[in-house]
Amino acid sequence: MAIQIPQDKLAEIRNAADIVDIVSERVALKKTGKDYTGLCPFHSEKTPSFTVSSTKQIFHCFGCGAGGDVFDFLIRFDGISFPEAVQALARRCGIQLPTRQMSPSEKQAVSEREKLFDINKKVLAFYRSQLLRQPAGEKACEYLANRGFSQEIIDRFGLGFAPEGWDNLVRLCRKEQIPLNLAEKAGLIVPRTSKTGYYDRFRNRIMFPIVDVTRQVIAFGGRVLDAEAKPKYLNSPETPIYNKSRSLYGIHAAKEKCRETGIVYIVEGYFDLLAMHQHGIANSVATLGTSLTSGHIRMLRRGYAKKARLVFDSDTAGIKAAHRSIGLFMNESVDVEIVVLPAGEDPDSFLFANGQDAFFEHAEAAKGAVEFLIESAVDAHGLSMQGKIRVVDELKQPLADIQDSVARSVYIRHLAERLGVDESAILERVRAARNQPGRAPQKQVPSAPKAPAETAEKPYSAKNRVEARVVGMMIQYPEIVPTIENQQIIDYFEDIQLKELAELILSHPPKSTDDISQLLNRISDNSQRQLIASLAMGEECWDQTSCEKLMAQFKASRKRRHQELLDQIKTAEKNNDHELLFKLLKEKQKQAVKSG
Ligand SMILES: [Zn+2]
Repeated sequence: MAIQIPQDKLAEIRNAADIVDIVSERVALKKTGKDYTGLCPFHSEKTPSFTVSSTKQIFHCFGCGAGGDVFDFLIRFDGISFPEAVQALARRCGIQLPTRQMSPSEKQAVSEREKLFDINKKVLAFYRSQLLRQPAGEKACEYLANRGFSQEIIDRFGLGFAPEGWDNLVRLCRKEQIPLNLAEKAGLIVPRTSKTGYYDRFRNRIMFPIVDVTRQVIAFGGRVLDAEAKPKYLNSPETPIYNKSRSLYGIHAAKEKCRETGIVYIVEGYFDLLAMHQHGIANSVATLGTSLTSGHIRMLRRGYAKKARLVFDSDTAGIKAAHRSIGLFMNESVDVEIVVLPAGEDPDSFLFANGQDAFFEHAEAAKGAVEFLIESAVDAHGLSMQGKIRVVDELKQPLADIQDSVARSVYIRHLAERLGVDESAILERVRAARNQPGRAPQKQVPSAPKAPAETAEKPYSAKNRVEARVVGMMIQYPEIVPTIENQQIIDYFEDIQLKELAELILSHPPKSTDDISQLLNRISDNSQRQLIASLAMGEECWDQTSCEKLMAQFKASRKRRHQELLDQIKTAEKNNDHELLFKLLKEKQKQAVKSG
């Protein structure tokens, strides 16, 4: 690739950062045979076709064709540039990069994100020391203790305190030589409107660092101590490292337990989340006021859990959220249930008053989202004639939002039975709602920026299967490369992309089956990289005999093509079809060049 980072450094990083580790931090993988498989993060699918090879250190999706090495994965999944991916992995593995060898633009791309992470880290240390070691933090500690939070939880989530005053961070930046414009970019300070200079965004607040799956601080939330002050909660704005529709509070602490149980609890606030963890329900994340997006749900499904339980403090809140998100969950094939706590109780207050067992009683009684909506609507409107009409009216939109036609019709039948009305009457209303240009699923919050199918590049599909198999064989059984060269097999290739790749392999023959990365290093074209990953991932077991068989098959097919062409020429001559004849002769000429 066109970068200044030396090859030996790249190799060092690649060796140190196991692709299986890196991918499994973001996608749930299962060992199948010698490879790992999971649901592809780059397209929507229900059965896993995303494969990661530990021995080859590559990934490949048999569904959408995405593929490459660990850098390709990070570039695509995290939406970062190549130098950023290199830098992120190097940092993780403790490998020093010779930055002076990068071009200015590469340095800049790497350094801005790095600097923002670094600033957040320093600011978190400041907030922590304010909470734990400064007199200013005493009342915050007291407040947290009064609410019942243990020191262990406060430490696990790295809570801090932003002291009173307008320029604590501004002064910290000066002291730590952090450029103020970068602190502004991190969302920590705000330019003054009247005069020059900046002021602190967070003042006199308990601070919650928002941490991503790799435990980097990407943003902050702050809560006032005194109930009168407004706003009660204040969050960082979106920044180059903080994307609200892709971030869930507590995900770093929740992922293990989510994987273990297959269930994720979704709560709303910081304190709810802390209370869940303190009561041993560690498979919990919080949305922090933003509504759930398909980006959130995809993240949870791919990485962590197949079932989500949304926890609400009342029927009304539950109904609202269920209406909004049923389509999103169903379309990502995540089962969703609504847990409703007694009126006026949020998870925080409920858990501290009633404990874990009582919470689980409510959780186990949770209804599926559609059933919940049906029952709530029936409760609200009754089963009179008018009531039934209202129930159908209320449910037609959420039902219309379900893309999967089988699931949709199952629920429509269920509703028809519950109301004792004809299925076709409901179907008609749902159909009308689907056709309405109102709020349809496609209008809902867009998913992760870099992610899935709609933006995915078209994978390369080899028109010539035999040629693709020959190149796959060269990658998977390098011992055959000299024979391929001697027999000049590549000269007969018709597919330009495969031919280029085969020639590259001939000029730099791989030393072993697992030596795919040195091949990838020579190629910057993304579709070529994906092609290599797909060819390398094939499951054929090559040996000398099977290779020779394939080569014989390949040569025979070429011969057959030649004969076919001659026959077609004859017929065209007979029919006086000059146009076709001209085309065929040109084709024959091409073949002659290839075989000559
Ligand atoms: Zn895919």
